[in-house]
Amino acid sequence: MHLKDLNGTLPPVGDEGTGKSSALEGKPIKTGRPLETGMSLSLWLQTVRNNPLLNHRTTEDLPQSADVVIIGSGATGSLTALSLLQSPNPPKSIVLLEAREMCSGATGRNAGHCKPDQWRGFSKYAQAFGPDEAIKILKNEQQTWESLVSYVRTHKVDCDLWAGKTFDVYMTEEVAKLAEKTITEYKAAGGDVSKIDVITDPAEAERISRIRGAKALYAWNASTLHPWKLVAHVNKQSLALGLNLQTWTPVTKVSGSANDWTVHTERGNIKTPIVIHATNAYAGALLPETRGGIKPTPHMCNKVLPPSTFAGSDSLQNSYAVIYPTGTYTINSRPTSDGILLFGGAAPNQSKLLDYVAKDQKRRIDDSLTDFEPVTEAVRTLGTEGFEWDEPKRGSKVLYDYAWSGIIGRSADQVPFIGEVPEKKGQWICAGHNGHGMARIFTCAPALAKLVQGATWADAGLPNCFQVTKERLEKYRDPDWDLEETD
Ligand SMILES: Cc1cc2nc3c(=O)[nH]c(=O)nc-3n(C[C@H](O)[C@H](O)[C@H](O)COP(=O)(O)OP(=O)(O)OC[C@H]3O[C@@H](n4cnc5c(N)ncnc54)[C@H](O)[C@@H]3O)c2cc1C
Repeated sequence: MHLKDLNGTLPPVGDEGTGKSSALEGKPIKTGRPLETGMSLSLWLQTVRNNPLLNHRTTEDLPQSADVVIIGSGATGSLTALSLLQSPNPPKSIVLLEAREMCSGATGRNAGHCKPDQWRGFSKYAQAFGPDEAIKILKNEQQTWESLVSYVRTHKVDCDLWAGKTFDVYMTEEVAKLAEKTITEYKAAGGDVSKIDVITDPAEAERISRIRGAKALYAWNASTLHPWKLVAHVNKQSLALGLNLQTWTPVTKVSGSANDWTVHTERGNIKTPIVIHATNAYAGALLPETRGGIKPTPHMCNKVLPPSTFAGSDSLQNSYAVIYPTGTYTINSRPTSDGILLFGGAAPNQSKLLDYVAKDQKRRIDDSLTDFEPVTEAVRTLGTEGFEWDEPKRGSKVLYDYAWSGIIGRSADQVPFIGEVPEKKGQWICAGHNGHGMARIFTCAPALAKLVQGATWADAGLPNCFQVTKERLEKYRDPDWDLEETD
């Protein structure tokens, strides 16, 4: 995202490569259901090919009815199912339907980074929703991170969890000044800055970040993890509590009326009073009212093996956002697992991908792309004297290994759509996580489960601006998005 598009603000965490300057902005973006064949395989999906949950079907046939049907087995659908099943008054039957392999959408192909926005998005959120609501959004992200880490530790989930300092590294005076302005505004509005380390001395910022030319550095707690393994653990727990999981079962339509819905699939239909749409970027295929509010936006992730000079005790020990006025690179360094680096954000192949889609707006957006263009510019900024990337004094060079694509459910106003779908009593949604679901879903999905079971919005404990309303959907509704062409 280019700073000139940001009206004097910084991009919130999670909006680095998907924002206003994208080639798709302002144009109808369409997608139908998830691609049935030819999809790329993320690092995560590559490493679990022998896991039986990938194509699990709890029963050979679909049940004809259920108390609750959840569509989508990413983090949202899976965690909503578990939250319902662990509630004091759980539904007697829940069916979780997934179009392809379990957790093969954005959750199974993201960068595995849970980075709560502590302050960076404050000014942007405050412009949109006011300072109090902006503070609530940021508090919610911190809560989400704490809740994810606590779940993994309590249940000893084998998912390569790393918890440590994430670095925001500001690379020019211009962005460093904007960062200073943002944190000052945040503090003045009553925001909590106690968990943020601020380094404004460039020499110190360079030394700590190991990035040549760094002007300022902000650090706070975040995590990296294997997202598929996390969701697999959630679903294992749910299966033990009676969940019926059905992979390779795309939902083609939901018909009916208030609390009397039929969920249609090619394997048969399920009658249910409650449907939960956990389809994120694909929400528009089944819920036309979300077309425009939730914009499917393709995104790339790049796997890079660091050179010997960045290995062993010299390996990176933090995750990064490297911020320039023209865009932000994100680097996920996985310090507790294999030291492999994952690059995202404004990587060159990201804009190539957006151009590719923008050239033909009728093209169905899919997640089949593995085109790899080295993220050279990004990796070359790393390293101080004597720690060069491409020509290390000894050992192996950097290896640009593999890239994969996925579809982000970009929200037209930056925040997710959560709650009962207006005028469709008994249909619920939690989607539009805007490239940032890992720092949202661990509070949003349990909150949705509470709402489904009768809690008020206030009881659910989410920022007000996350609530799905008719007004919000109508404001962003895209009349040119014609599903017939795309499904
Ligand atoms: C390349 C990439 C990198 C990212 N990096 C990060 C990151 O580092 N940190 C972060 O916080 N966020 C990141 N994100 C965003 C994050 O992955 C998402 O916000 C989050 O995973 C959304 O989870 P979800 O469960 O709502 O959606 P998904 O995980 O997309 O789950 C939706 C599921 O619904 C299924 N589905 C859709 N339609 C149907 C249908 N009709 N019938 C049946 N099933 C259906 C899909 O197949 C899919 O499995 C990234 C996203 C991408 C694509």
